[in-house]
Amino acid sequence: MGKAAVLIGIDQPLEIRDDVDVDAPHAGEVKVRMAASGVCHSDLSMQNGTIMAGMPPIVLGHEGAGVIEEVGPGVTKLAPGDHVVISWVPQCGECYFCTRGQPQLCEQGGIAMATGGLLDGTPRLKSQGAPLPQMAASGTFSEITVVPEIGAVKIPADFDLKLAALIGCGVLTGAGAAMNTAQIHQGDTVAVVGCGGVGLNVIQGARIAGATEIIAVDMNETKLALAKEFGATATVNASQGDPVSQVMEMTGQRGADVAFEVIGLQQTIDQTITMTRRGGQAILVGVPKMDAMINIPAFFGVVFSEKTIKGCWYGSSDVQRDVPKLIDLYQKGQLKLDELVSRTITLEQVNEAFDAMKTGEVARSVIKY
Ligand SMILES: [Zn+2]
Ligand SMILES: [Zn+2]
Repeated sequence: MGKAAVLIGIDQPLEIRDDVDVDAPHAGEVKVRMAASGVCHSDLSMQNGTIMAGMPPIVLGHEGAGVIEEVGPGVTKLAPGDHVVISWVPQCGECYFCTRGQPQLCEQGGIAMATGGLLDGTPRLKSQGAPLPQMAASGTFSEITVVPEIGAVKIPADFDLKLAALIGCGVLTGAGAAMNTAQIHQGDTVAVVGCGGVGLNVIQGARIAGATEIIAVDMNETKLALAKEFGATATVNASQGDPVSQVMEMTGQRGADVAFEVIGLQQTIDQTITMTRRGGQAILVGVPKMDAMINIPAFFGVVFSEKTIKGCWYGSSDVQRDVPKLIDLYQKGQLKLDELVSRTITLEQVNEAFDAMKTGEVARSVIKY
């Protein structure tokens, strides 16, 4: 029996259950004893009903790292004792998308996202005598979980598992948006709208990718100060005047070469596209409500201005390639991870982490098991 934080209904606090049974891993699955889990904005979006990836009751959490305890039949790449980062998009390496270099869109990952189960649609957790679904084939708010073998990435055993957890979502998504999804050229001017946990990673990814001017846009001065530590060269406080005209002014009325939206709001999506220069790229990273629309004039906004508007899912990451790459960048001092952790908490404090996110907390709360 183990503990887990369970969403029992929309807008309700997560319930800490201590009766969670974990089945043995099936073929192609691994059982992981979690060491740490970040509390990500997408967990909050599940809690408040903005996104639906399985129905309550469901164990949330998708940004985690831990140690393999047991492997199911047919598992060849992982063994008990291995340290792993959870990938909330399992990447099979064989489907239409994986074989075309877009494993972030893996067909297997889509199944996991929709059902609240693993790749066969069923979860391995049980509570109160019933199967307990797992968010994104993960469920990292459980002390022990089972994930697909293709949803776990082996990392060096001496790497801090608390920092590794953050790589699993926020860092892969943010840094990946800048290093994979966008094409940033040496000397580019980049704007980043939204400087929370993912936005900070977009900023440091843009710096690594060669951007020399990075304009951070947010309404929270504390977040803007942190953005500077992560590589922003200028800041725009969107509560003090129109952010688009401020960015236009800073770029000689041309707009940013690449602009990232990292909030997921209809208004900031439109603003981000508008502040992108002619011929530039607008990268949409934040997860909007299911009924949000983009409202951009087709002629001046896209055709005449020849802008690329591109969605970004999981930082266009190939997790087997990118997790080791990000660890390497950290070890070389080029990628900040420690500074992303604003609070280390227990599983029981998970609702406090949700409250902190609602009031605009900087960076991340991380559960340490
Ligand atoms: Zn996340
Ligand atoms: Zn695939």
